[in-house]
This record gives sequence, structure tokens and C-alpha cells, in this order.
Amino acid sequence: MRIGIGYDSHRLVEGRKLILGGVDIPHEKGLLGHSDGDALCHAVTDALIGALGEGDIGKHFPDTDPQWKGVSSILLLKHIAERVKERGFEIAWIDSIIIAERPKIGPHIDSMKHALSAAGIPPACVSIKAKTNEGMGFAGRGEGIAVHAVCLLVQSSL
Ligand code: MG
Repeated sequence: MRIGIGYDSHRLVEGRKLILGGVDIPHEKGLLGHSDGDALCHAVTDALIGALGEGDIGKHFPDTDPQWKGVSSILLLKHIAERVKERGFEIAWIDSIIIAERPKIGPHIDSMKHALSAAGIPPACVSIKAKTNEGMGFAGRGEGIAVHAVCLLVQSSL
């Protein structure tokens, strides 16, 4: 049995789509990043990598590598979810918290859970929660969005 923790934050800027959990959320700003800036996928990916004890997301997908430029972070997550299986584990549970002042995330949570299934993570294994930061700090001022995630891996029964 393994646990992992992941954290990510990205800056909100004009001229970018807001992609979270693989879902395009209507907003006047989007997350800046080498990939699509999907902080939820990145935090979950980092939690899985941490549970495997195999470094971090930057080691697996360096932002200096043109291969990952503009790529959907669902693909990065899929890549690592497959690695979890290869290492003899399965994902028992993922819990996460998105910290965003705006836009309202709640109405998009079901879509995100569904979108994560494209990475091989069943919606029944994922919890996504959302909250504001009560106006405090970078997330509270709407300068960026932060995500925390934890995961539990269990030895595969195969
Ligand atoms: Mg990131």
C-alpha cells in the first residue's frame, strides 16, 4: 500500500483557455504553463509519482522538452497511471482540492471526474472538491489557481 501527495499552482493570465481536470471551463483567463497548465492533472500526476517513489512530474515531463509543449495534461496523467499498473499497483482512491476564487468550479466537477477516465482513472475512484481562499493570498486575489491531491495505491490483485 502506498500513499502520495501532490501540489500544483499556475498563474491565471489572459489569452489562455482555463483547463482543469481535462475540462475547458469558460473564464476570461486561463492557466499559464508549458503544457495546458492543468493544475488538477498535474497535482494528481505528482501524487501518483510520489506514491511510486519515482521523483516528480518535472523529472518525467521536463518543461525544456518540446515533446510536452502545449500537450493535454490528461495524456501526462495517463502515462503515469499506466506506470502505476506496470509497477504492480492500482489506484484505490484519489482526493483533491482545487483552490480558486473564480470561476465557480463546483458545476464542473462531474465533468472533470468523467474526463479523468480518459487517463484510465475511473470516476468512482476520484474525489474532487473546490473552495475559495476567502480572498487571501494569490489564489484569493485571482492571480492563480492551486490544487492539492492525495492518492492511495494498493498492490494489484492480478
Ligand atoms: Mg503544473
